[in-house]
Amino acid sequence: MLFDLLIPWVIAAAAITWLVIMWQNRPPEPQSPPPPPVVVDRPYAPAEIIVSVIDIGILFVNGDGIVLMHNPAASELLNLQRDGVGRTLISLIRDHQFDEFVRDVAVRCESDEMLLPMRNPARTLRVSARPIIQPDDDVIVILLIRDITQLSQLERSRRDMIASVSHELRTPLAALKLLSETIASNPPPEIAQRMARRISDEVDALTRLVNDLHDLSQIEAGRIALQMSPTDVIQIVERAIERIQPQADSHHIEVNHTVLSGLPMMLADAGRIDQVLLNLLHNAVKFTPDGGYITIGAQLINLPHDHDVLPGIPIDHNAGEWVAITVTDTGVGIPSEHLPRVFERFYKVDQARTRGSGTGLGLAIARHLVEGHSGKIWVVSTVGVGTTFICTLPTA
Ligand code: ATP
Ligand code: MG
Repeated sequence: MLFDLLIPWVIAAAAITWLVIMWQNRPPEPQSPPPPPVVVDRPYAPAEIIVSVIDIGILFVNGDGIVLMHNPAASELLNLQRDGVGRTLISLIRDHQFDEFVRDVAVRCESDEMLLPMRNPARTLRVSARPIIQPDDDVIVILLIRDITQLSQLERSRRDMIASVSHELRTPLAALKLLSETIASNPPPEIAQRMARRISDEVDALTRLVNDLHDLSQIEAGRIALQMSPTDVIQIVERAIERIQPQADSHHIEVNHTVLSGLPMMLADAGRIDQVLLNLLHNAVKFTPDGGYITIGAQLINLPHDHDVLPGIPIDHNAGEWVAITVTDTGVGIPSEHLPRVFERFYKVDQARTRGSGTGLGLAIARHLVEGHSGKIWVVSTVGVGTTFICTLPTA
């Protein structure tokens, strides 16, 4: 029987792929709950068991494009609504490119690979096709199908990251080159001094960028351990105001807080919360016109388990007692279509709206730090009126 003939091939292909996958996946990181045990209705041969439990789709197609056999993973990955055996590939997966690809492998008798985008759910499959020449010279194509959605997302975000970092580095580096060339041309001392100051500013900006990138990569890799201890809200808020004051003063922006004493202590890493508040305050100053106002508030909120009835609080917020810190400015505001994206790394709404420069890392870092405390950070804003960032931290 055809299936018996195919079994050694299936075992070999499955075993090799299995080894490759095991090697690629070291150390194993469980993404979803472990699959349930396999219950069989009769004594299965080892090859049958491997084929039925492996998470790689396996499909055999003959030279006429008819499916000879497929395993459960192939049904799941290709969204097959019914048993595909005996049907044409094109009737099961209405994708002419895919159908032609398989036929082409059979005709050329050469292994090949293609990416197959799927809808509902949206995912990317990598299909490896290998021709198998039968004793009677008929060619059968074995398709090995893997879900590489996560891998391609990671790859895309890695490429975006490299593009953004190189873009952010190029601007200050170009400025540094120009400034140093000007100084080398022996300009009058006052111009040389001005250039030297600008060089120092550009180096500061570069250092900030590298520090932010380092911070973000450490946080994203889970390498920053938070030093949690009972932390006083007012102390943190007053310290942050003190640090932002010179910058706010130079733009005649008034910074106040309305935090009442008597709030319970937070359970937080004080240094990291300083960093979050400073990032929010830097933004508030940067996006508020001269003469504006910044207010920091804090209040205790108690979230019941069904808190999704509370307006403004994210529905996935953990229940319990939280200190909610708010930073409100009377600045330019953020158009609503940008609100969901401002916490993404390198996301900037519009460079033209700000008086200072920025890389778009501050809020990404703030979000990671707040979420590291199991809290949430979110934003409400009205263009031309102002913006409020809210972050919640657990009580001690
Ligand atoms: P960096 O913080 O790395 O120096 P940045 O300030 O541009 O750069 P984020 O702090 O991550 O980056 O902010 C992302 C974007 O969100 C900003 O570029 C800005 O467009 C918008 N934004 C943030 N805070 C405010 C605010 N208070 N008012 C208006 N827009 C804001
Ligand atoms: Mg910022």
